[in-house]
Amino acid sequence: VRKTLLVANWKMNGSLDLLSQMHEALLAKSYSGVGIAICPPFIFLPQTQNLFKDSQIAYGAQDVSDQDNGAYTGQISAKMLSQLACDYVIIGHSERRQYCGETDKIIAAKCQRALDAGLVPILCVGENATQKQNGETEAIVLSQVRSVVDSLTTEQLEKLVIAYEPIWAIGTGLAANPLDANKVHELIRKASLQTTRILYGGSANAENIREFLMQPNIDGALIGGAALKPEVFVQMINISEALCTKVY
Ligand code: PEP
Repeated sequence: VRKTLLVANWKMNGSLDLLSQMHEALLAKSYSGVGIAICPPFIFLPQTQNLFKDSQIAYGAQDVSDQDNGAYTGQISAKMLSQLACDYVIIGHSERRQYCGETDKIIAAKCQRALDAGLVPILCVGENATQKQNGETEAIVLSQVRSVVDSLTTEQLEKLVIAYEPIWAIGTGLAANPLDANKVHELIRKASLQTTRILYGGSANAENIREFLMQPNIDGALIGGAALKPEVFVQMINISEALCTKVY
């Protein structure tokens, strides 16, 4: 059984006020079938822990250092995140690959650090518009997945979550066709495990989430813009609750 997972990626957005609003909106009801996680900016994690520690809502960071500790000004280690009882950490988001020069090697090291500290890495993979046009989607996605998966033990792999996020769909309002996304998820599944949760990301919203989750290999979503609006995020959770868990 793969439990559906919805993850909010706030990126460099939001505020303590929004966190309170999200807390109020999410805790107004209980959830049984869907896992929910919020990934706000690092600076809001202590308050996230205060608000959500005894709830069903998980939380995590948007990045982690590939180093254990030491002279790495500005970086945050996996052990530090686990001190704040984070459950998840997003790793290798396309914005970090693009703006911070993160390579597959760095991303694999980050996943390893996260797993060593007991965190669940959410590994992001996906092709850009040119690669899609050139028919390179499969090759790009598979090499991004393999560069991490091949370095993990089976036990570690069992914990990994993967998010397929076509870069051309992120923040553009142009979500992928759910059937096309499912085909890529199927490939990712072959390169990982039957149990691996594979999320879709890229302009997911309350209007399209149902169709994505109805695909056999789409186990949830990584949500940017729509997860900054508490009422929309709750609506997406409610829709997901109605569809729920994938039995394989
Ligand atoms: C993301 O950045 O992970 C993302 C999916 O963003 P959006 O939902 O805004 O496209």
